[in-house]
Amino acid sequence: MKEIKKIGVLTSGGDAPGMNAAIRAVVRTCIFNGIKPYGIFEGYQGLIDDNIKALRSHDVSNIIQRGGTILKSARCEEFKTVEGRAKAAEVLKQKGIDALIVIGGDGTFTGARLFSQEQEIPVVGIPGTIDNDLFGTDYTIGFDTALNTVVEAVDKIRDTASAHNRLFFIEVMGRDAGFIALRSGIAVGAEAILIPEIDTHYQEIESYLANGYKSHKSSGIVIVAEGEKHGGAYEIAKQVGEDHPEYDVRVTILGHIQRGGAPSAFDRVTASTMGVGAVNALLDDQKSIMVGIMNNEIVHVPFNKTIKNSKKVKTSLLEITKILSI
Ligand code: ADP
Repeated sequence: MKEIKKIGVLTSGGDAPGMNAAIRAVVRTCIFNGIKPYGIFEGYQGLIDDNIKALRSHDVSNIIQRGGTILKSARCEEFKTVEGRAKAAEVLKQKGIDALIVIGGDGTFTGARLFSQEQEIPVVGIPGTIDNDLFGTDYTIGFDTALNTVVEAVDKIRDTASAHNRLFFIEVMGRDAGFIALRSGIAVGAEAILIPEIDTHYQEIESYLANGYKSHKSSGIVIVAEGEKHGGAYEIAKQVGEDHPEYDVRVTILGHIQRGGAPSAFDRVTASTMGVGAVNALLDDQKSIMVGIMNNEIVHVPFNKTIKNSKKVKTSLLEITKILSI
């Protein structure tokens, strides 16, 4: 295999806190190994448009604690075409960049896999998404921070909820997966949690609520993942409000605050570990793989595997909520 002298790094898809810590780790590990790192701005679009800059060690100083991504993120339709990917490969060849590290989610890895196959340029992925929904890694960068943001916000809502005996339906991110909803729900002591993976019957919600109110709870919090099957927090709250006028029902959609903020210590360590791991994987002749962490160890998971399989939520966590919300 060709010796790697220059590595490009980009962030793509939905941004997540901790991406900067991963960029820093990639850049510094490259320099440590005598490799020249290049920052590619605005994801695959920047790759096609040659929006690329050599990065020095001090270009990534003072970013480990910052949310967002200094490389910016973007979505790029052109990269979904063979021609777009060929253009991107030409740009890399012109610059003499031999390998690529992409930080993103499922979509980013799908593009990376095709690119790597068609162009014979080794690509390694780092899982960066607040949703934690990637197969082959226990955690994705940004998940822990998003979780902490949700918990902090819901704790505040709980204060006002209990002052007025209100029942809040709080919608959190997770279009296809309930990881944020499940863990945050337990952490805030939610009365119920609704996730896309499980079709919770309306009667079940009612029974949670009835039980709670029977035992004289002063407030109720139901955490709803945005991809929940009954139309999200507004729809469910409307139904409960109509059927139970005795409840003072409110809705809060947490939205984009979940993507921002300084990354937690956990996410910084995860991102740093994965950044170092990604460069080492390329130096080890790996390609078309995601660097993950399973049971505290770095693992290499073929893009194929992580794209095709879906990570299962631990539904036993719902059981915990059922027990603890009596
Ligand atoms: P995420 O990586 O967070 O899942 P997206 O699904 O938006 O985010 O994907 C990010 C980018 O990856 C897209 O804008 C596109 O450039 C590329 N991509 C996504 N799906 C494909 C695909 N099927 N083929 C090629 N590239 C893709």
